[in-house]
Amino acid sequence: MKPVEKSSEMVKVLDSISLNMFGKSRSEAIRQNICVNCGGEADRFVDIRSKREFALSGLCQNCQDSLFGSIGEP
Ligand SMILES: [Zn+2]
Repeated sequence: MKPVEKSSEMVKVLDSISLNMFGKSRSEAIRQNICVNCGGEADRFVDIRSKREFALSGLCQNCQDSLFGSIGEP
């Protein structure tokens, strides 16, 4: 997937997580469809929003659920 380049504090944090864990940048992980948080394949998403979220944050569906699940929809 093509990574979305957007600078926010969260993306910076995710960048450093992915660099520390996998030695590759978030953008690189997204291009290879790899989750920056758990290192698993990020190839299945429940909807287009989750897919877009992966392009932005590099988080697979499972990690999105666990990280954003408690926030929920407004
Ligand atoms: Zn994950």
